[in-house]
Amino acid sequence: METIGILGSGLIGRSWAMLFAAAGYQVRLFDIEPKQVQGALKEIESQLAELEKTKLLRGTRTAKQQMALISGTTSLKECVAGALMVQECTPEILDIKMKALRDLDAVVQAPTIIASSTSTHMPSILSKDLKNKERFIVAHPVNPPYYVRLVELVPAPYTESWVAVKVRAIMEETGQVPVSLKKEVPGFSLNRIQYVILNEVWRQVADGVLDVTDVDKVMSEGLGPRYAFLGALETAHLNAEGMQSYAERYATTIHSVSSGMGPVPHMQGAVLASVDKQLCDRIPLDKLQERRQWRDAALTKLAVLKKEV
Ligand code: NAD
Repeated sequence: METIGILGSGLIGRSWAMLFAAAGYQVRLFDIEPKQVQGALKEIESQLAELEKTKLLRGTRTAKQQMALISGTTSLKECVAGALMVQECTPEILDIKMKALRDLDAVVQAPTIIASSTSTHMPSILSKDLKNKERFIVAHPVNPPYYVRLVELVPAPYTESWVAVKVRAIMEETGQVPVSLKKEVPGFSLNRIQYVILNEVWRQVADGVLDVTDVDKVMSEGLGPRYAFLGALETAHLNAEGMQSYAERYATTIHSVSSGMGPVPHMQGAVLASVDKQLCDRIPLDKLQERRQWRDAALTKLAVLKKEV
C-alpha cells in the first residue's frame, strides 16, 4: 500500500487526507503545530462518519477503514519517508511556504514527488532553490475539494514530465478531475477565468447597469447552471451548428462588445463601499458561516446530481 504525506493539517490538508484515504492510500499528516494534527484527526473521523451516514462517503471502504489509513506524526522525516508523494498544504504566505518547502526538501528522497496546494504562487518561484525541484509540481484544489473535483496541475519549466503524468494518474484514481497546464501562468487557469468574470461584474455595478443582487443572479441563475455541466467552448459549439458556425454568427459581435469593455477596474473607493454594503445587507458578516454551510450543502447535492447525469 503506497503512502502520501501531507504537510500542513488545516482545511485543505484535511480534505486531501480524506480524499487519498478514500482511494486506499496510507496517509501521514504532519503539522508544525502538533495540536493541529490531533484536531485534524478528530475532525476527519467525525466528517467520515457523517459522510457515511449521509451516504456521501467516497471510495469502497467504510469510514472506519478509511480512518485506519490516516495517521498523524510530529516528525517531518517520518511523514515523507518512502512516500509516493507529499502534498504541501501550508498557509498561502510566501515566506512560510518557502521555509516549509526547504525543510521538506532537506528530508525528502527520490522518487518522492512534492506537490503544492498553492492557489497563487508560481511553481518556479516556490521551488527555485530546492534540490529536488525536478520532482516539484503545483496540484491546486478547489474548495471544498471533496465536492468540487477540479485540480489544476502546474509544472515548473524544469519539472520532469513523468511527475505531471504520475500526479494526474493519482488524482484520477482519487476521483478528482485534474487538468494539466502545459506551462505556468500567473493565476493558473481557474483564477484567470474567475478574474475576467469578477472584473466584468464589477464594471456593470460601477457603471450602474445592474445592482449587486441582480448581477450575481446572472451567474447563479444564468451562466452558472449551464457551466456546472459544460465548459464555455462546448457551450458555444452547442449554441450553433458547431464552433465554426458559432464563430460565423457571433465572433464579430463578441469582439466588438469585448473591445469596448474598458480597462481592468480597481476594486476600491466608493464602488467598493457600495458593493460591500449591498452584500452585507443581504448576508451580514455574522451570517457568513451559515451561508458557507448552505453553499457546501448545495455543492454536495450538485456533486450527487453530476454523478447521475
Ligand atoms: P490553513 O491555514 O487552514 O492550514 C495551514 C496549516 O499549515 C496550519 O495547520 C499550520 O499550522 C500549518 N503549517 C504552517 N507552517 C507549517 C510548516 N512549516 N510545516 C507544516 N505545517 C505548517 O490553510 P488552508 O486553507 O488549508 O490552505 C493551505 C493551502 O491550500 C494554501 O496554499 C492555500 O492557498 C491552498 N488552497 C486553499 C483553499 C481554500 O479555500 N482554503 C483552496 C485551494 C487551495
